[in-house]
Amino acid sequence: MDYEIVIGLEVHSELKTKSKIFCGCSTAFGSAQNTNVCPVCLGLPGVLPVINEKVVEFAIKAGVALNCEILPFSKFDRKNYYYPDLPKNFQTSQYDLPIAVNGYLDIEVNGEQKRIGITRVHMEEDAGKLVHAGSIASSDHSLVDYNRTGVPLIEIVSEPDMRSPEEAKAYLEKMKAILQYIDVSDCKMEEGSLRCDANISLRPHGTETLGTKTEIKNLNSFKSVQKGLEYEAARHEEVLDEGGKIIQETRSWDDANGVTVSLRTKEQAHDYRYFPEPDLVPIIVDPETVEEIRKNLPELPDARQARLTGDYGLSSYDAGVITSSRALADYFDEMVKLKVDAKTTANWLMGELLKHLNNANIDIDACPITPPNLAELIGLIEKGTISNKIAKTVFEEMWTTGKDAALIVKEKGMVQISDAGEITGIIDKVIADNPQSVADFKAGKEKAIGFLVGQIMKQTKGRANPEMVNKLLRERL
Ligand SMILES: [Zn+2]
Repeated sequence: MDYEIVIGLEVHSELKTKSKIFCGCSTAFGSAQNTNVCPVCLGLPGVLPVINEKVVEFAIKAGVALNCEILPFSKFDRKNYYYPDLPKNFQTSQYDLPIAVNGYLDIEVNGEQKRIGITRVHMEEDAGKLVHAGSIASSDHSLVDYNRTGVPLIEIVSEPDMRSPEEAKAYLEKMKAILQYIDVSDCKMEEGSLRCDANISLRPHGTETLGTKTEIKNLNSFKSVQKGLEYEAARHEEVLDEGGKIIQETRSWDDANGVTVSLRTKEQAHDYRYFPEPDLVPIIVDPETVEEIRKNLPELPDARQARLTGDYGLSSYDAGVITSSRALADYFDEMVKLKVDAKTTANWLMGELLKHLNNANIDIDACPITPPNLAELIGLIEKGTISNKIAKTVFEEMWTTGKDAALIVKEKGMVQISDAGEITGIIDKVIADNPQSVADFKAGKEKAIGFLVGQIMKQTKGRANPEMVNKLLRERL
């Protein structure tokens, strides 16, 4: 049968506040185990939580950026369950009255725009972390680190509006970009500050009723979101085609083996016995506060992409890649401020810069080549001091040594040969040494000239001005 895939995502994002959601403990990542703790986040008897105002502000900011309605009255609830990383035996979360509802974000897949609904954004506390020696199944004991307990989170729940794993990946990428632009989360998937669970179900094409869904956890990268969903869609299809039934359950994505495995049958909301948190007052948000936050939002990815295509004539694809990260978009803007041509800048960012960042697996914040460095390099090409090809070698050298472009060019004697007399001398030698290629060219084989150009560039170690070589060689021939 031909099925339609239905996907909804739950994104958890750690907010980058200095202190935790209900106490003054630090949220610093990577501190020694169980050092960022106090009686409140350890859930000792008699303590009282106090809401961190910054958490509410960040949650509203996220809600506004995601086109949500901010509820004027919202409250916290207790979500009751037992697990060793949850010392209170309940998670303080928001149930029926979250801070923000009814939003959306727009994605683009294969050149097509699509709007994905956002059901809600709510605030909650993170749980601690269990550490096993080896795998959870084979370890004979587990240790618990409560540093993460009480770190503020927002959970963003989408409508089941996505119809393919590609759309889910695009949604998550856009979500990450927006949260980074508004500076409420650093969204490091590898440190767990952006996490994603996916709900997926299949239904016959043209039908309305949703099929039974499964939830996939441990999707720790954009790639695993797509791969995990692809695997799960294929698994559903196989079960349904054989006349079987999908069991509503939570499954874990095993990245190493490329499969999902059953974790537990899915609990329902009523299993958690939600009830209002009696130790925290409700949150009343006045419209002026929301307007103030809305007014102060920075330019968001969609607007910035439109500016890059509109003002600088970049393709929608290039503008999309550059604005996918605020830091990369800032880099671009800085280059343009330094009077470097926008399209040249885009080519360098999309080419050498991203290639090197990806290979080194670092973010642009840690890029060893600053906008003024790159502007200087591009300036050398424009002045004719070095060719485009040599510039790539210089870039490589800048990346590893941190030296300025001009210094590298000087030290390595990479200055382009643009002296007609010198180039002509080399051309004459190459013509004399390669009579067959010359004859081929004269017999109409245009390709032969490429070989001759190659020989000239070889003789000059790539330093000859390519335009001049082409022009002078044709003249000589
Ligand atoms: Zn604490």
